[in-house]
Amino acid sequence: MKLIEGKPIAEAVYAECRSELEKLKAAGHLPGLAVVLVGDDPASKAYVGSKDRKCQELGLHSLKIEMDADTSMEKLLEKVAELNADPAIHGILVQMPLPSHLDEDTVIRAIDPAKDVDGLHPVNLGKLAMEDPTGFAPCTPSGCQRMLLETGIETEGKHVVVVGRSLLVGKSLALLMMAKGAGANATVTVAHSRTRDLPALTRQADILVAAIGRPHFIGPDHVKDGAVVIDVGINRIDDPAAKRGYRLVGDVDFDAVAGKCDAITPVPGGVGVMTIAMLMRNTIRACQQAIGGL
Ligand code: NDP
Repeated sequence: MKLIEGKPIAEAVYAECRSELEKLKAAGHLPGLAVVLVGDDPASKAYVGSKDRKCQELGLHSLKIEMDADTSMEKLLEKVAELNADPAIHGILVQMPLPSHLDEDTVIRAIDPAKDVDGLHPVNLGKLAMEDPTGFAPCTPSGCQRMLLETGIETEGKHVVVVGRSLLVGKSLALLMMAKGAGANATVTVAHSRTRDLPALTRQADILVAAIGRPHFIGPDHVKDGAVVIDVGINRIDDPAAKRGYRLVGDVDFDAVAGKCDAITPVPGGVGVMTIAMLMRNTIRACQQAIGGL
C-alpha cells in the first residue's frame, strides 16, 4: 500500500509557484490575494490565517480583510467591488460559510471571474465544464487531480467513483476527471445521499473519492481490493486525549481500509494541504492572465 502524502506534492506546486513568481517579479509584477473573512468562526479563521501565512512565505501580496459577523450584504458587496477594482489584487476569496443572513451565491457572483481563484463563479464553473483552460477550477478538486498526476496513478479509462456532489468538491472533481487530457479521461460515477446500495457501487471503483463530511463513513465493504482511495473529508471528532479535545479524521476509516488499497491519502496530511497550494497557483495564474501572459 502506498501512502499518498500531500506535503511533498504541495511542495512541488510551491516550487512551481516560486519559479513563476520570480519571472513575474523580474518583470515588475506582484500577484496579490485578498481573503475576506466575515465573522469569527474558529475553523474559518484558521483557514484564512494559513492562506495569509502561505502568501507571505511565498512572497505574494496578501490582504486579509476581517469583517464583523453582522456585516450587511451591501457592505460586503461594496468590499468585493473595491477588490474587483484594485489592480494590486489578482485573486479574491471570500471564506465560506458566511453568516446565515448573507447570501453566498450572490457574493460569489459579485466577484470578477478573472479574480475568482476559488473557481466557484458560474463563469469559471462553465469554463470547467467546457474544458476552457483560462478558467479557474476549485482548489480542492484540482488538488486531488494533481495528487493523482504526481503519484503517477493512471486515470485514463479508469472508473472513478466520487461520493459527494457539492460544487466545491464532488461535482467539480467529476468534471475534472471526465475531461479530456492527462490526469483525466476517466469514466466517472457520482454518488450522493440518495444513491442506492452505495457499497455495491463504490466497490466498482478503481479510484474512490470520498467527499461526504461524515467521519469514517467509508469502510472496507465500500472498497475493492487494489483500489486507490482519495479522502477529501476533514471532520472533527471528540478526543479527550488530544490537546484540543478533538482530532481530525477523514470520511474514510483509514485503519480498516488501508490494507485493501493500492494507494490511499491520509487525513490529516493528504488532500487538505493541497487546497492552499492550488489557491496560490491559481492566484499566480490570475496575475499572469491579467497582464496578458508571461
Ligand atoms: P457537502 O456537505 O457540501 O457535501 C457532502 C456530499 O456528501 C453531498 O453531496 C451529500 O449528498 C453527500 N452525502 C452525505 N451523506 C451521504 C451518505 N450517507 N451517502 C452518500 N453521500 C452522502 O460537503 P463538501 O463537499 O463541502 O465537503 C465534503 C467533505 O470534504 C467535508 O468533510 C469537508 O470538511 C471536506 N472538505 C475538505 C477540503 C480540503 O481542503 N481537504 C475542502 C472542502 C471540503 P446530498 O447532495 O444528497 O446531500
